[in-house]
Amino acid sequence: MKSILVEAPRRMSIVDLPIPDPTPGEVRIRVRHAGICGSDLHIFHGNHPYVQFPRVIGHEFAGHIDAVGDGVDPALEGTRVAVNPVVNCGQCYPCRAGRPNVCLNLQVVGVHREGGFAEYCCVPAQCAVPVPDEVDDRAAATVEPFSIAANMLSRTEVMAEDTALVYGAGPIGMTVIQALSGVHGLDRLIVADRIDSRLDWARTSGASIVVNTTRQSLAGTLAEAGLSPSLIIDAACHPSIVEEALDLASPAARIGLMGFSSEASAIPQRKLNAKELTLYASRLNNRKFPEVIGWMSHKQIEPERFISHSFPATAVHEAFALLEGHPIACCKVLLDFN
Ligand SMILES: [Zn+2]
Ligand SMILES: [Zn+2]
Repeated sequence: MKSILVEAPRRMSIVDLPIPDPTPGEVRIRVRHAGICGSDLHIFHGNHPYVQFPRVIGHEFAGHIDAVGDGVDPALEGTRVAVNPVVNCGQCYPCRAGRPNVCLNLQVVGVHREGGFAEYCCVPAQCAVPVPDEVDDRAAATVEPFSIAANMLSRTEVMAEDTALVYGAGPIGMTVIQALSGVHGLDRLIVADRIDSRLDWARTSGASIVVNTTRQSLAGTLAEAGLSPSLIIDAACHPSIVEEALDLASPAARIGLMGFSSEASAIPQRKLNAKELTLYASRLNNRKFPEVIGWMSHKQIEPERFISHSFPATAVHEAFALLEGHPIACCKVLLDFN
């Protein structure tokens, strides 16, 4: 089977590997579409803390079940599915506490185990989440990135009456903006970015105010509009943002951090305390696939507007070059394994 293998940092090849057989409890997916994520670029460059080489990468993918291992219902063969890449142990404290996405023995498909940039991929049966007919194959491959937004918005307990501020209208910010507007129906949604084309996109996706922070003061714009954000999501992920967010937040606000920079942020405890602010981190997703698939079924989000490019899997090097050379022109780039 055609597979995209990262053999070592900066060495990625399309290779022919044997089609894997599902072990007990697993299903085999015939992959149709897979999305390229920022973390795939980090793996490619050798900057990912958990990956071991060689690795078939890819953790955002969908297709159909074409074989099942022992103990799995054979009637599942043929089912169209999106794959939740979170594989957990079920035994450790986080698992028992209902937080499998931070399992102590976490195995992320495409990072710790072979991923979906291949014609076939085996995963535990519970990771293959059925997709209804009204959600097409391309949309199904974007369930994982939208699940990142779903997890953060569930952590921060978004409400329709929130005044939300989203930093960053790149691919991660876009999933958050679509969900805040289309799913949660927020009327007061402020988006800050440094790139006009992304802000234009945010405006047509439901942002009520957009701020280009290279030219406009975010604090000034909020003050002028009389808005004080009760929910702030940092999808731009620079360490300085959380410092500014503490100043802009309303008392009792929740602040969600989506980045994983290793640089420190200077957060004075007094500022958190004075407004009784809550900071939330969010990693991967905690069983959010059915929820996101529901959003897609009900047309509450627009996966097709999230997908900017599509390449045949054999053009993966071209796709990576586009993402790295022209990131502003890209949102989600899909590989087609048909
Ligand atoms: Zn991803
Ligand atoms: Zn566990």
